Amino acid sequence: MSATADRTQAGVRVLDNFIGGKWVPSTSGQTLDVTNPATGEVLCRVPLSSKAELEAAVAAAHAALPAWRKKSVIDRARWLFGFRQALEARTDELAACVTREMGKTFPDAQAEVARMIEMVEAATAVPQTMQGRILEGVATNVDCETIRQPVGVVAAITPFNFPAMVPMWFLPFAIACGNTFILKPSEQVPMTQQIVFDIATELGLPPGVINLVNGGVDVVNAILDSPGISAVSFVGSAKIARYVYERGAANGKRVQALGGAKNHMLVLPDAVMDKTADNIISSAFGAAGQRCMAGSVIVTVAGAWSDLKPELVSRAEKLKVGNGMEAGIGVGPVVSKQAQSRIIGMIDQAIADGATAVLDGRVTGASDDGAYVGATILENVKPGSQAACEEIFGPVLSVIEVASLDDAIALVNTSNYGNGTSIFTESGAAVRRYRNEVEVGMIGVNVGVAAPVAFFPFTGWKDSFLGDMHAHGTDAVDFFTKKKTITSRFFSAGPSGKFFVE
Ligand code: NAD
Repeated sequence: MSATADRTQAGVRVLDNFIGGKWVPSTSGQTLDVTNPATGEVLCRVPLSSKAELEAAVAAAHAALPAWRKKSVIDRARWLFGFRQALEARTDELAACVTREMGKTFPDAQAEVARMIEMVEAATAVPQTMQGRILEGVATNVDCETIRQPVGVVAAITPFNFPAMVPMWFLPFAIACGNTFILKPSEQVPMTQQIVFDIATELGLPPGVINLVNGGVDVVNAILDSPGISAVSFVGSAKIARYVYERGAANGKRVQALGGAKNHMLVLPDAVMDKTADNIISSAFGAAGQRCMAGSVIVTVAGAWSDLKPELVSRAEKLKVGNGMEAGIGVGPVVSKQAQSRIIGMIDQAIADGATAVLDGRVTGASDDGAYVGATILENVKPGSQAACEEIFGPVLSVIEVASLDDAIALVNTSNYGNGTSIFTESGAAVRRYRNEVEVGMIGVNVGVAAPVAFFPFTGWKDSFLGDMHAHGTDAVDFFTKKKTITSRFFSAGPSGKFFVE
């Protein structure tokens, strides 16, 4: 049963914030409707909290910090073991909530929850990953060691497309390292984390160790300006990533800001075409193209398009568009009616720029109420056009044909983004050149979505990332700890093991 208090406004549930171990109503008086993008139904209202409410969370996190960082690292890891089990037991409830508020299909949402749980698993390794280093005898009788300590109160600001997983890129690693934590979830999808925080509360996490403040721009600015917050993790669009990075850094904070993407998928003539087509379909149209790792441009090399096209189009045509809670749906809705209009506008523009729609998702919407766009494949897309360069974040795939691997690498490297890319080929030599020369942070080899693996660092390059330490993996421990180096000697200790005084 939910620990969240049930407040309503004209019959619609209004979400609370979670501050100091309790659900508390926002006092800002401003709310936004959260809708189910498959039906248009209003699911709840999310408060747009104030700076004062964020500062209340900062105060609660500071109050909890001394005791939490003093807890043994084993105790912190053990709490995460329990958290992991409790999340797994509620996988379907979490996944159903993801589908209702964000739109991705239920099996895709279950896969997201599984990846979220992997993040918690990886964070339980903290007794190993947080270890320091020591070198005995840096001078006669002098030893030197580096230890890691928590950075303090940290905050994360997250996007709409992974309501369950992306907050867990940060929360478990941050608290494992002895920090206390504040989450500002996306105001478009605030419900899943209400369940996560309920679960954490039921497991007896001390008040103030984790806090959740709902809201939009005002809460983001309050996080970036708060003197009480030492580090900020951000995931979202490239423009806001830059804004967050610059304002946070100007205020002396440690910032990691993961931004938007335009991901290329290279297909060489020797690729295994049927399997390549399967992978491209799931990369481009899974989650209705709303993944930061979604393949967005296919770059076919030396005539490979003629072999790939029939395989791809025949599969894409069969994708059923509809409510992700129903069985057999290939493309769920996009997140909102605004997103639907933006995506359809970008398809219109691509066609005006000379592209041809091999498959046109503007006409395959499933209902008037839902925010649907069907799978769309555009060929003859010109390099340099909007469809070739800008993030569409919808189920739209552009095709560009090039003559050689050299041309393909040059094309990919002109992008402002560098988040993810895939190459489909059986040639080890081509793969070696590609991985060596391409300016992209995450690469899939015959893998359409090089999805985040919890024990490895994850991020893009160029405008897709600002900062130094990537998300999760061992980079998370680097981001969430400060190093302290101690050089020591004891005058009464002698090289023979006998006590002596110099
Ligand atoms: P967004 O940038 O609109 O929002 C992200 C967060 O920033 C939200 O919490 C939102 O409240 C806040 N925000 C929005 N506008 C703001 C403003 N003007 N000032 C301050 N804060 C603001 O992103 P989104 O639409 O929620 O998510 C989709 C984007 O996220 C895509 O560009 C996608 O590529 C990117 N993304 C990147 C990764 C990655 O790993 N690089 C992962 C997931 C999503």
